[in-house]
Amino acid sequence: MIALLVCGTAQAAKSIAITIDDVPISSKTPYSVSDAASVNSKLLAALQKHHATAVGFVNEDRLLVRGQVDAGIDLLDQWLIAGMELGNHNFGHVGLWKSTLQENQDAVVKGETITRWLTATRGKPLRYYRHPFTQTGRNAEEKQAFEDFLSARGYTVAPFTIEHDDYLYACVYDKLTLNQDEERTSAVIENYLAHLEVSVRVYESMSDQLFGRQIPQILLIHATRLNADALDAMLMKLEDMGYRFVSLETALLDAAYQTPTKESRQFGPSWLARWARAMPKKLTVYGQPDPKDATADMALKLCAN
Ligand SMILES: [Zn+2]
Repeated sequence: MIALLVCGTAQAAKSIAITIDDVPISSKTPYSVSDAASVNSKLLAALQKHHATAVGFVNEDRLLVRGQVDAGIDLLDQWLIAGMELGNHNFGHVGLWKSTLQENQDAVVKGETITRWLTATRGKPLRYYRHPFTQTGRNAEEKQAFEDFLSARGYTVAPFTIEHDDYLYACVYDKLTLNQDEERTSAVIENYLAHLEVSVRVYESMSDQLFGRQIPQILLIHATRLNADALDAMLMKLEDMGYRFVSLETALLDAAYQTPTKESRQFGPSWLARWARAMPKKLTVYGQPDPKDATADMALKLCAN
């Protein structure tokens, strides 16, 4: 009985912040600015419907389409008008594994030109940075140097705790959409939603093992056609699992986010795995299980490179 009560309390307390990378669009097939506009307006409508305040992380290089720059700027402005925040994901999606520290610093500065102007115009902050590939550095010194640089420019690093292979499902979805294969695209969404639930359960277990409680989670997804079409159902599923939506700012107030991390090196797993590595603490699970469904099989054929 006590266990039930405790469980019930933990359920009620679960919270999650939503972050969306590669704004305005991440696509494995050719796209137009109107495709990007459609993706973003669907994402924003779903967020607003569920009263979720998300941060969209921008790659400004994706706005530089000749004759379409204004449309791209309007698209970003829609985020601010909808009550969301914009963050910096750097110019060119430059990672901190294949590129130098200096190249990353340059990409941060270059990547904030339009976003800083837009956010200032709307009286909104520009305060979060998400590392492309969530690579935080090759070694401790580089990680520290980059974080000092970000901090001096007024940025807080945006960590994440939950990801669920959305790039894999999105790739299949993009390819099927290109072929107008509607029957199979809806099957992708079903598999994707099932994989979300399985993944979230694993991250909940990691949170329990590390902190003995459910910390506010931070979901990382991308501005894809798939998420545009699935976000409403995803948010509904998360609500059904006992989550309420909080801003990134609120999630980061939790003491768990003060836990140190080591440099990511090449691979950028969930911060839950990074904390476990730095503590160090052995966990029974380290991230979402590999997708094993018809979409994963299709990805092997459609998205091999
Ligand atoms: Zn990205």
